[in-house]
Amino acid sequence: MAGEKKTGDIQSGRLSADEISRNYCDLHAPLTEYQAIQESARCLFCHDAPCTEACPTDIDIPGFIRKIASGNINGAAKSILDENIMGNTCGNVCPVEELCEQVCVKNTAEEKPVVIGQLQRYATDFLFDCGIQPYKRRSDTGKSVAVVGAGPAGLSCAHRLAVLGHKVTVFESRTEPGGLNEYGLAAYKMLEQRAAREVAFILGVGGINIETRQSLGSNFDLGELRRKYDAVFIGLGHNAVNALGIENEEIEGVHNAVDFIERIRQENLSTLPVGRNIVVIGGGNTAIDIAVQMKKLGAETVTLVYRRGVDQMGATQFEQTVAQTNGVLIRTQAKPVGIHSSDNQLRAVEFEYTEIDSNGQMTGTGETFELPADQLFKAIGQSLDPSPLGGAEVPALAGGRINVDPKQRTSLPDVWAGGDCTAGMDLTVVAVQDGKIAAQSINEYLNHG
Ligand SMILES: Cc1cc2nc3c(=O)[nH]c(=O)nc-3n(C[C@H](O)[C@H](O)[C@H](O)COP(=O)(O)OP(=O)(O)OC[C@H]3O[C@@H](n4cnc5c(N)ncnc54)[C@H](O)[C@@H]3O)c2cc1C
Ligand code: SF4
Repeated sequence: MAGEKKTGDIQSGRLSADEISRNYCDLHAPLTEYQAIQESARCLFCHDAPCTEACPTDIDIPGFIRKIASGNINGAAKSILDENIMGNTCGNVCPVEELCEQVCVKNTAEEKPVVIGQLQRYATDFLFDCGIQPYKRRSDTGKSVAVVGAGPAGLSCAHRLAVLGHKVTVFESRTEPGGLNEYGLAAYKMLEQRAAREVAFILGVGGINIETRQSLGSNFDLGELRRKYDAVFIGLGHNAVNALGIENEEIEGVHNAVDFIERIRQENLSTLPVGRNIVVIGGGNTAIDIAVQMKKLGAETVTLVYRRGVDQMGATQFEQTVAQTNGVLIRTQAKPVGIHSSDNQLRAVEFEYTEIDSNGQMTGTGETFELPADQLFKAIGQSLDPSPLGGAEVPALAGGRINVDPKQRTSLPDVWAGGDCTAGMDLTVVAVQDGKIAAQSINEYLNHG
């Protein structure tokens, strides 16, 4: 229990390095060869497979499972990667229980669905371990494309464009590429430098140059990119976080969940400050991720509070179960109304119970309660701050995000966008698909004008 004492009851090293490392083991242990063969044999190889219909990247799921069953593991991986170049990450982080596995015909009262996500991971891990690079660039087209943001959307777009023979420059404001794969996804889903390994694989095709510490809106503007490159793709994700809008949000002990999650991904886990009592506000996967990870770091109590009912929580049922089995207490129908401190250090968070009135509106009941807290994590959503897009001509926005058509085209003829900065589900797999569709559309534009 050694550790640096901070204000409040906040300490680093609440658990030993060994305990932390055990807590941060893989969410799903990788399948063995035997398990993968057994599991692939459960697939019925459905015609018009519902699992493929449910996959945002259209992976031929029965096709790749059949290859695993016949022992062609690298062939299976290639089928996955052809549609989803981040198929390895997605095999670990996709909410499969709401996508492919939910609709698997094996998902009945008597049986469990085929574990598609784990098979996807098995096949792509196998290919990466073999060190195989299955993609080759077509001959150089002489066209160049700028991609803003090296997250799943940007890298997926860059890879497809590079394969098609275009030269791609990716501008990334951070020091490492990967976006939220590197800085956001829960550490226990992305062990062993998984994100960096995938980025290296993507770059292995050639023709992609990444310039890090280069930000749209400060180092260059959109007009410059449009003059220098034949086309531009914007995949800058969310760049702003929502505030609670109550007093004391800036005091010691109050954090934005995404900023702290970034620290969990990048710093030594034994040196992070961890409160004895922790409160998390929010109902989505970010809220679950910070709650679970703080418990794994040794917090004594972690209470996640959501303003609506459990059925309205953005976090999947599986994520909620992960939280509960890790000792996180989930409380619903309560909204924060006060952050209480002493000597500018967080002491407690006050909540008001909520209810739904006869008009379907959520209102406070007037009845309140307090939770003691050394740390408070705000996880009530992220958004797009459009200021980096500023300049003479700006792509049109809709609902606070960049407006795109089904081919990911913006209102500017030579600018495409995708991922979290555009509308749609905020998932890695969706960002990858957006980048892929944009690349195909950019290719048509570059070839035919
Ligand atoms: C905590 C957390 C947990 C999540 N867990 C899951 C999960 O388990 N499963 C899942 O499917 N999804 C999950 N998601 C969502 C998923 O991570 C995102 O939907 C996905 O990363 C979006 O990809 P993107 O490329 O659009 O954006 P990002 O991954 O955010 O990448 C955008 C990139 O653009 C860069 N950038 C930003 N501004 C600029 C600029 N001005 N100039 C240059 N570069 C810039 C950023 O640094 C970043 O590298 C999670 C998200 C969070 C926050
Ligand atoms: S729905 Fe299930 S059984 Fe049918 S092809 Fe997909 S994974 Fe196989």
